[in-house]
Amino acid sequence: MEMRQFREVAERLRVAGIPVTLQRLEVARVLLTRPVHMSADQILERVRETTPETSRATVYNTLKLFREKNLVRELIVDPERTFYDSNTAPHYHLYDVTTGKLSDVSADELTVVGMPKLPPGVDLEEVDVIIRVRSRSA
Ligand SMILES: [Zn+2]
Repeated sequence: MEMRQFREVAERLRVAGIPVTLQRLEVARVLLTRPVHMSADQILERVRETTPETSRATVYNTLKLFREKNLVRELIVDPERTFYDSNTAPHYHLYDVTTGKLSDVSADELTVVGMPKLPPGVDLEEVDVIIRVRSRSA
């Protein structure tokens, strides 16, 4: 890992209150240095390129921690596919069910009008919108 990148991700973990370990740094490098949507397995594969001894459990636990600390969003596009999104700014998603490609839709391209009355004693956490598309068969 490049020194500047290393310092930046270490700082982000520290600010989020996450104790820094080598493997957490590696997951952060793969996921947090640019906007990406990746599955846990894709992240594991990338982390193992530099840290081959990394276990699946370590990556899953790290992702859970990152999600709890709001460093990533978890997007469950279908029961088989969970993506981790390093862009935590408000935005929505377009999911191509034919190719499995997930892309961002900016918050100004789509407006959610109105909100159902929320049950008493809860606060709105977030609104997720996933627009699902299918390629036209020729
Ligand atoms: Zn996204």
